[in-house]
Amino acid sequence: MQRVDTLVTAEWLVPVDLAGSTHVQHGLVIDRGVIVDVGPTRRLSAEYQPDERVDLPHHVLIPGLVNTHTHAAMTLMRGFADDLPLGVWLKDHIWPTESEWVGPEFVWDGTSLAIAEMLTAGITCFNDMYFFPEVASQAALDMGIRMVAGMICFDVENSYAKSANECIDKGLVLREDLASQDRVTTAFAPHAPYTVSDQPLIRIAELSRALGARVHMHVNETSNEDSDSVATYGLSTLRRLDGLGLLNDRLVAAHMVHLTEDDIAATAAAGSSVVHCPESNLKLASGFCQVDQLLRTGINVALGTDGAASNNDLDLLAEMRVAALLSKAVAKDAASLPAHHALYLATMGGARALGLGDEIGSLEVGKRADITAVSLDDWSSQPLYNPISQLVYTTSRSQVTDVWVDGARRVQRGHLVGIDREALLGRATLWAESIGAPIR
Ligand SMILES: [Zn+2]
Repeated sequence: MQRVDTLVTAEWLVPVDLAGSTHVQHGLVIDRGVIVDVGPTRRLSAEYQPDERVDLPHHVLIPGLVNTHTHAAMTLMRGFADDLPLGVWLKDHIWPTESEWVGPEFVWDGTSLAIAEMLTAGITCFNDMYFFPEVASQAALDMGIRMVAGMICFDVENSYAKSANECIDKGLVLREDLASQDRVTTAFAPHAPYTVSDQPLIRIAELSRALGARVHMHVNETSNEDSDSVATYGLSTLRRLDGLGLLNDRLVAAHMVHLTEDDIAATAAAGSSVVHCPESNLKLASGFCQVDQLLRTGINVALGTDGAASNNDLDLLAEMRVAALLSKAVAKDAASLPAHHALYLATMGGARALGLGDEIGSLEVGKRADITAVSLDDWSSQPLYNPISQLVYTTSRSQVTDVWVDGARRVQRGHLVGIDREALLGRATLWAESIGAPIR
């Protein structure tokens, strides 16, 4: 019998592949943070002697969910400005509040709250874009989640940096500081084509090429972006990004709601990834991403919650369901984005977008042990014919019971391990009192 760290067994195991495979009475073996075996519980029990054994008789094991576009610290602005169009919401509410309040303390507390919410919802990795990423990444290191920290870039002076070039310089220092970390890495994160000018975008494109780093950016979120781009630069958004050297397989483009046929063909040819954020798009009335067409064209699509100020939760199970439902309505085809494919977007799609496809996103031997266990003995999960259908169409995040990141158990029976829940909630209350008087 081989000594290993952990054996986790469950009634079902969904490794995540495009065939929608589901295995019954399977488990996986974790040793030193890595999945070293996946197979029938009976065989694993006979072959391994684990230090810890976790049996989950009513559960399905899935890869940890990958939230591929978010602004974690914005949890502190959850619900304070709703039911507004994107331009008004950003310019009259979000940006003024950020300029008054955002600093290291805000980012620490907001990101910590977001990580607590995400881990307990089965999210094991998030791709973040916000000010003070050195603070957010420290919170991720401390709380045990996987993160791609965005090296944020804005033209306009803000509390984090005076200029776009200072943003990039600070980002490069963070990248150097995190060089020895596997679990928290970095990507360039210029906010959007309309908030970052050509010179810093060219610098980012050159650095991205030299370092092999991803570029995470909002692209074509609203219908007026292209006409504004033509008026300002004489080029549509994607043509401009292409000319600046950014349209390539390192681009992680959030939203991509308003695309022409040429844009879709160019994105597919470049190998860029699209992060679909259906709930944020719906709430801000941004439009409808043509997910079905993007997938048919061979584009890798991931899922993101966007920030909690425009969603308003960080719940990727819900995002999967909305994505699957919305794709059918937009494509006028009930067969569009079937459940197993929606699950693929929320796991492997995100992993591939972030360049982590060999490390996370599926339950396979050799990958990091980022695992989510979901209980399926809830009323709404019965009777059960197909666990993947249940996961996408009926499961609530409250059914997530156990979560491992890098083989470490971060959520146990629904509760965060090693995190002071009351202290964290108390900090959120203090921020609500500072930012604006809540309704009582
Ligand atoms: Zn966003």
